[in-house]
Amino acid sequence: MAREILSNAVILTGRELEITRGYMVIEDDVIKEISEGSPQRRAVNLNGGFIIPPFINAHTHVVDSVAKELYLGKNQTQVVGPQGLKFRVLERSAPVQKAQATKATLQDMLATGTLAHCDFREEGVDGVNFLRGIILPPLTSIILGRFSKVEEMLKVLSISDGLGIPSLDAFSEEVLEEASVAAREAKKFFAVHVAENAHEVLAFKKKHHRSEVEQAIKLRFTFVVHATHCSEEELLRLKANKTPVVFCARSNSLLGVGVPPINLALKTGTEFFLGTDNAMVCQPDMFEEISFAWRCLRRDNTAAGSEEAKSLLAAATVKPLSLFNLPWGPVEEGQKATFLILARKSNLLHLSDVYAGLVNRARADNIRAIYFNGKIIIS
Ligand SMILES: [Zn+2]
Repeated sequence: MAREILSNAVILTGRELEITRGYMVIEDDVIKEISEGSPQRRAVNLNGGFIIPPFINAHTHVVDSVAKELYLGKNQTQVVGPQGLKFRVLERSAPVQKAQATKATLQDMLATGTLAHCDFREEGVDGVNFLRGIILPPLTSIILGRFSKVEEMLKVLSISDGLGIPSLDAFSEEVLEEASVAAREAKKFFAVHVAENAHEVLAFKKKHHRSEVEQAIKLRFTFVVHATHCSEEELLRLKANKTPVVFCARSNSLLGVGVPPINLALKTGTEFFLGTDNAMVCQPDMFEEISFAWRCLRRDNTAAGSEEAKSLLAAATVKPLSLFNLPWGPVEEGQKATFLILARKSNLLHLSDVYAGLVNRARADNIRAIYFNGKIIIS
């Protein structure tokens, strides 16, 4: 029997990320014990380091890596709108270039502690197959494909993990209804960008006499992305409908569309996750994302403290486990040993609050080791 003991650790345990100051026993790749205090047996001393669940990046477009910083001098519509620069670049880039850029991005995600991401993949059947050909285990790539012609919809759905719809105006309501039914029957994801851009929010309401959120709920999307311009009432509707939201705060800021209502989501108890969106705009580093989200939250609410910081950390780690079927669970006894170990060095010394300290200050260079199913994959 293989046994390893990690001692002198601050362990964020279970779905609530409760703090255990003590040690962890791993036996045959499984977390056998998490206890306060010191173990009786020989152990690896983590010197006050942190054991936290790995990151889950709930929204990416990783193939955009081939077009880094091409958003300069442009607004969101010019970059990622229906006629946006992004699509011309994706089309004209050589597959080998796109593959190299994407692989480098996936490697960077792993190196920065992310073990799963959910990607909106453009370019139809070919686009889904392209990313499938690059995936980098143990990083789990959940790929939501995009069809451009209705005839392609079922084929895209059959080879992907679901459908990622660019906007509620990209197709007629009838086509989206059909896609919703097909995704549900296939037990796959059906997700959409909503309320990202204030102008489009108004235009949609004027044209359809209902808001994007109302339409997304009507069409029974599994989750929605952005919700940057959602009201408190709309967040309550999403909550009542058990539809989670993925906020992409850095991307929203860099594309100048606004700041997501993270404070309102916490206030209303709406389930939310975090994503880094277009790799053209943001490096998919979840340490950066939670840190930026913390700034957005404090901008709106200076009363935000330890509990709110813990919620952000949970949104980036354990909360998405309820949506995505992943080969690990929270850091708790009986689960596979899958977690990050963060060294308590310079930037993480003398923290008066563990959650706020980690959210505000932890960086990828704090990673001392990444465990996946009991094996160290990066150290
Ligand atoms: Zn997106």
